[in-house]
Amino acid sequence: MSREIVATFNEELRKQNLAGMASCHITGCFGFCEKGPIVKVYPDDVFYTEVKVSDVDEIIAKHIIGGEKVERLLFEDPKTNTRVETQHDMDFYRKQNRIALRNCGLIDPEKIEEYIANDGYLALANIITTMKPIDVVNVMKESGLRGRGGGGFPTGSKWGMALRSVSDKKYMICNADEGDPGAFMDRSILEGDPHSVIEAMAIGGYAIGARHGVVYIRAEYPLAIRRLRTAMEQAKKYNLLGKNILNSGFDFDLEIKYGAGAFVCGEETALIQSIEGSRGEPVSKPPYPSESGLFGKPTCVNNVETLANVPVIFQKGPQWYASIGTEHSKGTKVFALAGKINNVGLVEVPMGITLREIIYEIGGGIKGGHAFKAVQTGGPSGGCITEQDLDTPIDYESLSRIGSMMGSGGMIVMDEQNCMVDIAKFYLDFTVEESCGKCTACRVGNKRLLEIITRITQGKGEPEDLDKLKTLSETIKDTSLCGLGQTAPNPVLSTMKFFEEEYKAHILDKR
Ligand code: SF4
Repeated sequence: MSREIVATFNEELRKQNLAGMASCHITGCFGFCEKGPIVKVYPDDVFYTEVKVSDVDEIIAKHIIGGEKVERLLFEDPKTNTRVETQHDMDFYRKQNRIALRNCGLIDPEKIEEYIANDGYLALANIITTMKPIDVVNVMKESGLRGRGGGGFPTGSKWGMALRSVSDKKYMICNADEGDPGAFMDRSILEGDPHSVIEAMAIGGYAIGARHGVVYIRAEYPLAIRRLRTAMEQAKKYNLLGKNILNSGFDFDLEIKYGAGAFVCGEETALIQSIEGSRGEPVSKPPYPSESGLFGKPTCVNNVETLANVPVIFQKGPQWYASIGTEHSKGTKVFALAGKINNVGLVEVPMGITLREIIYEIGGGIKGGHAFKAVQTGGPSGGCITEQDLDTPIDYESLSRIGSMMGSGGMIVMDEQNCMVDIAKFYLDFTVEESCGKCTACRVGNKRLLEIITRITQGKGEPEDLDKLKTLSETIKDTSLCGLGQTAPNPVLSTMKFFEEEYKAHILDKR
């Protein structure tokens, strides 16, 4: 519908001879999915929500021509029942700090000029003309940025290892194979700000000594692919990608490879296998990709959100970035907020914020006034977190301590009506479907787990099934080769830890 709104705006402005005075442009996602489509009017900074094509005439007549706000399209704060005019007045945005998403909702992602006008490619230009690769790596280390794909490995250290590896060829890879159910952080960044990822890839290439980069992206993301392609063509036209970038002597080119939607290809070694044309199956580490990755050459694999942070770290300085967040988890994290929550959407919050703040302030609380039951972070690899841990400051270590994980940023909220055995079954269904089948523990073990859980949800469970679930889960975790198998039983174990009575109720009541 957004495209139709933009077209209608521009058509109406043209008909009314106002095209020289105002125009309407498409941007990336504002993140507030619950209240889209959104129209923001500049320079007044007025934020209209749930706009329809039929509202366009009124916005033009009343606001653009008359200078008055269209009250009924302003967001109504549910706490005060008053209409608020700007994004900054809304609880959904107040506690957010949009760094990776800085340009989403601000610039037209198909116009490189808008990215450049917002300091885009400035970091790359400075780096390749004034800095040594080791200094670039040191800035990244100082910033404290850790991988946002789920692993949380320090990005500067990863770049440093790849820089130290001696080889005639090296590669930078952008992992855009986002696969967690309900997660769309990377898609949104690529759709809303593709140049930030291209610029970061070139910076990373310069830092580690790579002249070639690959973006591995799900083929199911056609808009992200189209915008990325357009951005690459534009960057080449401006001599920001390709041979002798900005006449600095540095060459860096990019290509796109499509993933076919296999979740396991988000694991870096499986992803590399897939790019090489083999089956997308993980291989044991070491050697790590930084020593022997794509085609046996040193390779750095960074995820989209990680990369989107890179240019701004160089623009504003590593100390600035490191001043945000907690002692060991610097900066911000993007989460896809979904499930039984009022404000479904994409949010970027500083590390250290609590889950309670995200769910009740940014997320606006539980839908329909129901009681909160649990929140799942880390997607199918994570675990559920209950009321008692809602005040835990979010960072990599604290989420692990309370039995979940950061993961790539899926955050699904459950209310009192959700059956937690069904939730565990949902995630297990997903991992069984996505297992590559290479190792027995994951291929057969998770299938057995799913069979037991299915039996329980059908009212055919036996009391001894609970012990079987626990023992089998631990065995799968201990003996699987890659992260998918090692974490697949987590939703079962964490729901059993906090909601064992629900498993027992299914078994005893035969329901
Ligand atoms: Fe494949 Fe599962 Fe083994 Fe990973 S743990 S390699 S997904 S079978």
